[in-house]
Amino acid sequence: MTRVFNFSAGPAALPEPVLREAAAEMLDWHGSGMSVMEMSHRGKEFMGILAETKALLVELLQIPSNYKVLFLQGGAIGQNAIIPMNLLRGRTSADYVHTGEWSKKSIEEAQKYCTVRVAATAEASQYTHVPKQSTWDIDPNAAYVHICANETIGGVEYHWTPDTGDIPLVADMSSNFLSKPVDVSRFGLIYGGAQKNIGPAGLTLVIVRDDLIGQALPITPSVFDYRVLADNDSMINTPPTYAIYIAGLVFKWIKAQGGLAAMAELNRRKAAVLYDYLDATGFYTSPIAKEDRSLMNVPFRLPDPKLDAEFLKGAEARGMVQLKGHRVVGGMRASIYNAVPVEAVQALVAYMKEFEAARG
Ligand code: PMP
Repeated sequence: MTRVFNFSAGPAALPEPVLREAAAEMLDWHGSGMSVMEMSHRGKEFMGILAETKALLVELLQIPSNYKVLFLQGGAIGQNAIIPMNLLRGRTSADYVHTGEWSKKSIEEAQKYCTVRVAATAEASQYTHVPKQSTWDIDPNAAYVHICANETIGGVEYHWTPDTGDIPLVADMSSNFLSKPVDVSRFGLIYGGAQKNIGPAGLTLVIVRDDLIGQALPITPSVFDYRVLADNDSMINTPPTYAIYIAGLVFKWIKAQGGLAAMAELNRRKAAVLYDYLDATGFYTSPIAKEDRSLMNVPFRLPDPKLDAEFLKGAEARGMVQLKGHRVVGGMRASIYNAVPVEAVQALVAYMKEFEAARG
């Protein structure tokens, strides 16, 4: 068996010990005589898995008791509609900060449900920075302010938490969830798809302050009404049971690594290996403002796009896959989530140097 260094933006690399544990438990989970995939979601075994997974998440993020943790389906894209349905609470407009492709998608979807005001945009830099809070124009009547905490395609990340006063701050953390400690109390709602730092695709996580729920638009499907979900412990219908089980194993793995502070330290060290080289080389370039560079998704360019195919082929031959940048921005992108080991980043930089020496 050969495992590659996987730089995929998502679904993405999972911790190897998690995959091994899942493999060992595949046919018979803890003496139950069944796979987690075969369990009734209302049976005591799975109810136990769900409770433990939730408790681990609460512990890792130190989620205050006035927040609900919801496990649902529909992805982060689904939340782009579900959030306005639930959080407008009689208001007619919401503010969004536009920092790239994913916040653009959020804006476009929300426009079906409310008036969207763009409180700030990074358009002037072609979405290579996070607009400073001093430039934001927040409407005091906005139902909430939405940000994308980490733009997976553009490689732009907030390294600070905006202050939106009494207006709830809503953050798409799909691609930097659990990569560092977060003060949940600063947010009204945090959401993300699981398929980067949490587990397999098919599971969506929502952490929402409980005073914000209970006023969903009447058209809201019951499975997406946060109040109904919270009252039924995310079990109004069959939840994505296997994805929740794997998420639980990932949470345990993060805890064993030392929790989110240790994860953040590791992620800083990992990203520095790549960014330090990008700053030193005159061959590759990083388009992103230094203070807003993502620690999870690192886009970079070769001096000539004609070299891209050869670079990717050489990387693949060395066991490094999924380095092609998103078609919208081109170039390369290395996604270096929690489960990507520092050795992967070191191997990538060694190859980049080798390629530079041959072509530079
Ligand atoms: N937001 C961000 C920041 C993302 O990275 C992604 C997926 N790459 C999405 C939203 C969409 O998530 P999903 O495919 O789970 O709907």
